[in-house]
Amino acid sequence: MKPRILYIEDNEQNYYLVSVILAARGYEVLRASDGPEGIDLALRERPRLILLDIQLPGMDGYAVARAIKARDELRRAPIVAVTSYAMLGDREKALEAGCDDYVEKPIDPMAFGALVDRWLAAGATTGGT
Ligand code: MN
Repeated sequence: MKPRILYIEDNEQNYYLVSVILAARGYEVLRASDGPEGIDLALRERPRLILLDIQLPGMDGYAVARAIKARDELRRAPIVAVTSYAMLGDREKALEAGCDDYVEKPIDPMAFGALVDRWLAAGATTGGT
């Protein structure tokens, strides 16, 4: 079965780019356009990895990360923040909120694909779903 990845992203272009990169590597990508939808989908589908935009309408990515890590059944899924914020301290804020890693847009397709591979491999060795 293809590893399933959830991408919580409100921007069509970003979603499209990432979904093409991940599909080319053989991953299945699920999309949510906002935080509450992403949390629901994560609970239903149990993705192996969650990619999380920080600038989301309504509930921002930090709040989404906190909500996901507060759920026992979800906290094993690594969260990678994907953000266009280039402000000092942003990485720390994402990690503090419970994200496991942080990537800045614009995304470099090769480096991003390799990072996703690494997180999925890490999850596999610790028995993630
Ligand atoms: Mn956004």
